Amino acid sequence: FELVIKTAFSKKRKTIKNNFKNILFDQDFLNLKIAPNDRAETLSIEQFINIENYVTQNKINFYCWYNSTVFLGVKMKIILIGAPGAGKGTQAAFLTKEFGIPQISTGDMLRAAVGEKTELGLKAKDFMNQGKLVPDNLIIDLVKLRINKSDCKNGFLLDGFPRTIPQAQAMIDAKIFIDYVIEVSVPDNEIIKRLTGRRTHPASGRIYHITFNPPKKDGVDDVTGESLIIRDDDKESTIIKRLKTYHEQMEPLVKFYSDLSNQNTINELIFISIDGLDNPDNINAKIVKKLK
Ligand code: AMP
Repeated sequence: FELVIKTAFSKKRKTIKNNFKNILFDQDFLNLKIAPNDRAETLSIEQFINIENYVTQNKINFYCWYNSTVFLGVKMKIILIGAPGAGKGTQAAFLTKEFGIPQISTGDMLRAAVGEKTELGLKAKDFMNQGKLVPDNLIIDLVKLRINKSDCKNGFLLDGFPRTIPQAQAMIDAKIFIDYVIEVSVPDNEIIKRLTGRRTHPASGRIYHITFNPPKKDGVDDVTGESLIIRDDDKESTIIKRLKTYHEQMEPLVKFYSDLSNQNTINELIFISIDGLDNPDNINAKIVKKLK
């Protein structure tokens, strides 16, 4: 027999290897290869049964047997964290494409539910209008249902969830183990610069930026020559308020996940903080490098 464990990412490979060593230790050996080029070890039938048990207990995300070879794969279950204006959307687009996973934005799902006036939408509407968080139980059920859908077979990217420690804990309790928590970190003063520079042409929705994408003539739309406006969302006072809320909500979660990451548990979660003061391609390259 030969056992080949294949996973996409070397960090995971190490964890799986260590986990298997604990399970397999001190038994007769057949042939164990952790990665195609890795050192071979030997395994017994009992050990295969152990592996079967281990895998079915859902600590490894998915696997398949092929003759006497077992292929273990990792799903990519990612939580993406970033303040408004940190460039989270661009990174989400890169990551979902790279790993073939859907982006699950609880904000978008709730807005859709409100628009469709579903039961959830009716319950969530007032909280959202007041800028408050929707109660944990509603949002947790919503996310659990969503990630059971078939498009999540390779994993998923969560955006806007979790926002509270009970939401994060609910994922762990439900044995939904996140692989990577990625924070795109940009200092507040830079975010304020990015967002307050936005100018909108209300009739067409065209967006400019006084530094990064200025109109040909200050304050007017390139196409119509009409005046540009600053939307309420882009006013400094609004942005400062949103950033304050963001920090209040996310700082405890960043601590929660970085602590988990340091504990090196069997369901290894890795917390990555990326400096978002760079162009989107470089930021993406930095993230991918950290994952592999
Ligand atoms: P967002 O687009 O992510 O800023 O979300 C918009 C609004 O939806 C928030 O202000 C909350 O009212 C609600 N919401 C989104 N995600 C969550 C969550 N994980 N927990 C509670 N409320 C949420």
